Amino acid sequence: MEQSKRKTRRIRIGGVEVGGDAPIVVQSMCATRTMDVDKTVAQAHQLARAGAGIVRIALDNEKEVPALKEIRAQTPGITLSVDLQENYRIAGKVAPHVDKIRYNPGHLHHIEKARTIPQKVKGLVEIARDNDIAIRIGVNCGSVAPTFLEKYPGDQLSAIVESAAYHCELMEEFGFERFVVSLKDSDPAKVMDANRRFTARRPDVPLHLGVTEAGLPPDGIIKTRIAFEKLLAQSIGDTIRVSLTLPNDRKHEEVTVGHAIIEDVKAGRFISVPDFGTGMNIISCPSCSRVENEKFVELAQYVKEVTGYAKQYKITIAVMGCRVNGPGETDDADLGLWCGPTTVNLKKKNRKIGNFKYDEVLPRLRVEVDRLIAERTGAN
Ligand code: SF4
Repeated sequence: MEQSKRKTRRIRIGGVEVGGDAPIVVQSMCATRTMDVDKTVAQAHQLARAGAGIVRIALDNEKEVPALKEIRAQTPGITLSVDLQENYRIAGKVAPHVDKIRYNPGHLHHIEKARTIPQKVKGLVEIARDNDIAIRIGVNCGSVAPTFLEKYPGDQLSAIVESAAYHCELMEEFGFERFVVSLKDSDPAKVMDANRRFTARRPDVPLHLGVTEAGLPPDGIIKTRIAFEKLLAQSIGDTIRVSLTLPNDRKHEEVTVGHAIIEDVKAGRFISVPDFGTGMNIISCPSCSRVENEKFVELAQYVKEVTGYAKQYKITIAVMGCRVNGPGETDDADLGLWCGPTTVNLKKKNRKIGNFKYDEVLPRLRVEVDRLIAERTGAN
């Protein structure tokens, strides 16, 4: 889709151009274990064949760097990005093997407390410059930097927009302009608000759009469309990622759905879902290298099945694949499940109910759903 109205700064990420009048780039992320080089290489090709302009990989520690190096060697022509999450300290080891690194401003404060945020960002900028790569400033509503939450009490939207704007200013202060920004949440309305606000604040900065943990198709596609159709129609968004909970052999559908949304917006076709979001809302992560047990996707599908009887109730259930993001990302849900290697942690809001085996958690979830319904309806 060619952009016409809003012109962001055009930057190069590996073999692709993002921003300005460049076509919108659809990207996706490998859900295979990064240490499993064969599977990750195969999935990177699977995503690229489907039309992914950028393929992202998660890296959790330095031990995975040799695997990344081998993945790079076996994926010539594919633009690779790495998601550093809390591991920004390994950026220097990762950078020689990728075209872009993503860091989360909400994950910089609690490690290396003796160094300031500007010092840490300066370090990342130097690594990016030395390795001729780009950066994504990836702000997430579930992990906003505490300084900004304190500065804007009760106003999460301002906190995330200002946190992103601050990091843009830091990059520019260090003479670096080859960056994109993302402001993500699992709620499409928040994604729209945050991206519109950020665009008004920094119209020049290229934006990566995403609705996190959109979940299983078809609901995950609908949630994503709600935000993307409106934003893309306003020429907001230079690169997109559709996050769907899918088994590995169907992971490329994230990419085909992304292209379909772009084509539909371009043709003026909008899928209207007037009553979407009035009942049960199941959010689930798209899984990645960090997923703790391969049963995760199946678990998300079963959660949908066993709670189907209560679909008219406005209950949010979050299903997350790992301990990195699982505990935090489930805090706002009425009921949350996050996967460990052999057990699933079940929560009610931010209170832990317990750890259950994979085959025991669903009956307990059903009990908790019944309790919630009883609390809300006053039934015994
Ligand atoms: S919750 Fe964990 S497994 Fe799921 S996408 Fe996020 S980091 Fe990956």
